[in-house]
Amino acid sequence: MAEEATLVIIKPDAIQRGLTGAVLSRFDPLRLDVIGVKAVRVSQELAESHYHHLREKPFFREIVDYLQGRLHGTNYVLAFVFWGENAIEGVRQVTGATHPEKAEPTSIRGSLGRMMTSGLMENVVHASSDRSEAEREIALWFKPHELLRPVSRGAAGLPAAPSAAQAGAQRAAGAKRSK
Ligand code: ADP
Repeated sequence: MAEEATLVIIKPDAIQRGLTGAVLSRFDPLRLDVIGVKAVRVSQELAESHYHHLREKPFFREIVDYLQGRLHGTNYVLAFVFWGENAIEGVRQVTGATHPEKAEPTSIRGSLGRMMTSGLMENVVHASSDRSEAEREIALWFKPHELLRPVSRGAAGLPAAPSAAQAGAQRAAGAKRSK
């Protein structure tokens, strides 16, 4: 099975409720590497791009506000890129279904998520749904130099290409060996 990258976001409700550690510890058994992590103040443009596929939905404005922290009195989220075998499906399973009441009760969303009276699904964490979304989302949230390894081709299930710096180091090592 191919190694791949996936994006996880600790959403504002989890930040507000002090659940960051509880959420992250759920991913530990997957034994994935964290290859990128940062705190992000989410601009309207970033939130709208992230939820681009839902722009026609009646709840679009609310989820943009949600991701920006406007509904929970916070002004940042925590973004992670996890890397490893079967990372996308493994992380989605631990995360659980979108609707907290339909999610597996032992999953993050099933145990910590809740419905708001407005009908918004307050579901604690975001996780990429498939490879093309993972690739799109990681490129949206992280610059290549913020990641410990390149992921764009890796996220598509292909061997990751070395970065320019790695390729240069490899060339230099090869040149030394041949001396
Ligand atoms: P997921 O986050 O599981 O990938 P989506 O991309 O479909 O799911 O939805 C993005 C977010 O929008 C969800 O995590 C949830 O917070 C919210 N959401 C999705 N569907 C609805 C809905 N029918 N009503 C209210 N909020 C929703």
